[in-house]
Amino acid sequence: MRRGTSFYPNLAEVSEEVLQAMVRQPISHRSVEFHEIFASVQAGLQQLFCTARPVYVATASGTGMMEAAVRCAPQGRILSIVNGAFGERFVKIAHACERDVDRHDVEPGGVPDPEEVRDLLQRKAYSAVTLVHSETSTGALSDVETISHIARDAGAALIVDSVSGIGGAQLEVDAWGVDCVVSASQKALGLPPGLGFAVASAAFLRRARDVKDRGFYLDLLNFEQPALNNETPTTPSVALIFALERQLAGIRSEGVAARWARHEAMRAAMEDWVSNTRSGLGIEIDILAKAGARSPTVTVVTLPYGIAAEVLISNVAARGYAIGSGYGTLRGTTFRVGHMGDHTVTELTGCLGAITDALGELRPMH
Ligand SMILES: *Cc1c(COP(=O)(O)O)cnc(C)c1O
Repeated sequence: MRRGTSFYPNLAEVSEEVLQAMVRQPISHRSVEFHEIFASVQAGLQQLFCTARPVYVATASGTGMMEAAVRCAPQGRILSIVNGAFGERFVKIAHACERDVDRHDVEPGGVPDPEEVRDLLQRKAYSAVTLVHSETSTGALSDVETISHIARDAGAALIVDSVSGIGGAQLEVDAWGVDCVVSASQKALGLPPGLGFAVASAAFLRRARDVKDRGFYLDLLNFEQPALNNETPTTPSVALIFALERQLAGIRSEGVAARWARHEAMRAAMEDWVSNTRSGLGIEIDILAKAGARSPTVTVVTLPYGIAAEVLISNVAARGYAIGSGYGTLRGTTFRVGHMGDHTVTELTGCLGAITDALGELRPMH
């Protein structure tokens, strides 16, 4: 596969250097060498999450970390903000874990209005709020900072799914006072799938102690002391830790703020491309998410009646570029471009050129 050709929304392209870092004998996770690697990984992850707290590393997918956070959420009723498929997943997890949960639905492509959230938290007592930072199913980006302050005022813990955010979209865990943030390796971090991450405030952990049925493997309380000792509680995917170490070294040299800016530039390039293509080809494509609340890591583009998403995606694939289909009910009428991880505007421009050509071919006749 040529570098700069894979733009799936659910799986980042992984660089050759990171792939190579995994090709070696595993080492014991109780060895001195592992402790040294994990210490450097901790420093890199803390920079990335903008936190002084330890960042827990689990061998799990993003959903595992969402479940870990819900299971540790302070006792009481949870308010789940649903503006897409991953917001909905929090509701399913809460039900499966037998937690009391109310949902606040926002139209697909939209983001929650912070004042509405404030109102909901004033009308009823909630112990926790779940929120998706970058909703990968719609391409919407929620205002985590404002909602974090509102949740704090109401005494509710804020749990944020930043699976497709961390590493691409700005999120400052400590400065914004977010109680719990979860993420995973295979999206904006540009790693293979298999590692989950979580940060929890000291207050969140303290309240978690009173919660029953936290389980064992992903109980966040079990990660704290090992993390402080530069370990994981159980045997990790050591190969992926090697990959993480390599990738974090790259992120350190790029700089976290520069990484956010690179992703912002890709979001802007998507917006320019959509408006230029609409006027240039006369095809009514649009961006699903509202202007001003769009994710820097994933864009969902709506197609006009007459252009089938699956045909477009396979024509783009024939030109050497991978893009994703829409999610769930949006499958037939949208496509998704994941511009995350190590991608640059130049690489994205190559992909958009291929989509333009494929669209030109499929243009509905007038
Ligand atoms: C991909 C994704 C998940 C789920 O991650 P898995 O690793 O497949 O469990 C959760 N939330 C968001 C926003 C995602 O993009």
